[in-house]
Amino acid sequence: MEDWRAWAVKAAEWGFDYRAGLRDLPVRPPVQPGEIAAKIAPSPPEQPEPFERVFADFEHIIAPGMTHWQHPRFFAYFPSNSAPASLIAEHLASAINAVCMLWQTSPAATELETKTIDWLRQAFGLPEAFKGCIQDTASTATLAAVLVMRERALNFTGNAAGLSGAPRLRIYCSAEAHSSIDRAVWFSGIGADNLVRIPINGPLRGADPNALRALIRADIDAGYKPAGVIANVGATGIGATDPVGELVKVAHEHDLYVHVDAAWAGAAMICPEFRTLWEGVERADSIIINPHKWLGAQIHCSAHFVRDPSSLTRTLAARPDYLHTLGLDEVVNYSEWGVPLGRQFRALKLWFVLRAYGLEGLRAMIRNHVAWSRMLCEKLRGADGFEIVTAPMLSLFSFRYAPTRADDLDALNLRLVEAINADGRIYLTQTRVDGRVAVRFQAGQFECTEDDVMSAYGVITEIASTL
Ligand code: PLP
Repeated sequence: MEDWRAWAVKAAEWGFDYRAGLRDLPVRPPVQPGEIAAKIAPSPPEQPEPFERVFADFEHIIAPGMTHWQHPRFFAYFPSNSAPASLIAEHLASAINAVCMLWQTSPAATELETKTIDWLRQAFGLPEAFKGCIQDTASTATLAAVLVMRERALNFTGNAAGLSGAPRLRIYCSAEAHSSIDRAVWFSGIGADNLVRIPINGPLRGADPNALRALIRADIDAGYKPAGVIANVGATGIGATDPVGELVKVAHEHDLYVHVDAAWAGAAMICPEFRTLWEGVERADSIIINPHKWLGAQIHCSAHFVRDPSSLTRTLAARPDYLHTLGLDEVVNYSEWGVPLGRQFRALKLWFVLRAYGLEGLRAMIRNHVAWSRMLCEKLRGADGFEIVTAPMLSLFSFRYAPTRADDLDALNLRLVEAINADGRIYLTQTRVDGRVAVRFQAGQFECTEDDVMSAYGVITEIASTL
């Protein structure tokens, strides 16, 4: 491509200007399904096109049709931050574009991954016994963990023999657990019918350890083979958090493997004052935390900590001749720790972010988000017609608009979410709590300010008054 240098500079400048101008854009674009596709040529060009035209189409067709996840008033789902330092690292990593599957295909990337994962381990206050790697997503890390549960329970015979004829395995998690856990049990062949829901109990809607003990015993009596437990720290709907240490204790009484899903909330564990939320985690077998959510390292960047890497490699490593590193049998080959073979160079962005902001910088950001979210929650609690459904878990809470005149509150709150998102000044999503619709609010965007968070009050109450 001609003028690569000039276009690379233009792209970097575009990114800078885009970020600088985000506050003036609607968070969710005002587009209809099919509208963007209709503007894209039906077939690829036979001849090269001038790059001006390619870039102009990006600016005029694609960018305006994107939901702006880096918008400071993005309060939906969970954040997916891309700090400027991460963005710069990604540019460098994509220039190199190494496939980081083996040490020899990416020596520096492999060794930096080992180091940055250990930096994160220290940052989260986890014991030295934990090793880890950077997976693409929490979903594949959880799949890897469930496959390990399956193989341990079957004495590492499942990969060879399959599941027919094997004892029926059981996995336990609470009803609040993320859908990636349901999918992991489907994909592992264990099956949704063998995912047992532990009743919830207590203020953070965590799984009841006594109920877990009773479920395991009943399953053993009925001829099932319990294989593992998945504990939530900050589940997606409302931030439900299990008593991790107590679940680990029950699980380990039966030699079950425990995986902790702290995909979102784990980032906050860089602040020592929040670590009571996952007390006992040091005895878990596996933990997933997504720096690509709340720590500024852009997607994909999921930190997967394990106590015993050999259980992962025994389950997942395939070693055909073409993947051998001749003369270096002892090196770490991170593709053996996960599902995909090809892997991006993900450690660079983490390294850049940790160094550019420092743990204190990242802690300050997270503490601000938590404090501002609590302030907004209190303000909404006092607003006419509003009720708080679940109290803040870190920076996530849920509320409902419940004016006395309304009869169908679920429909009203779904209309409220849609009207807010169509308005565009802020972006929110909904969930269900005890079967009833609630509106979720979370603050977590890297550049959001107290004013951005508190501006949500005016938008929510103004739009609610028009329904
Ligand atoms: N676990 C929790 C608690 C989540 O909130 C999410 C996504 O939001 C996931 C797992 C899945 O994360 P990923 O998109 O990295 O697979």
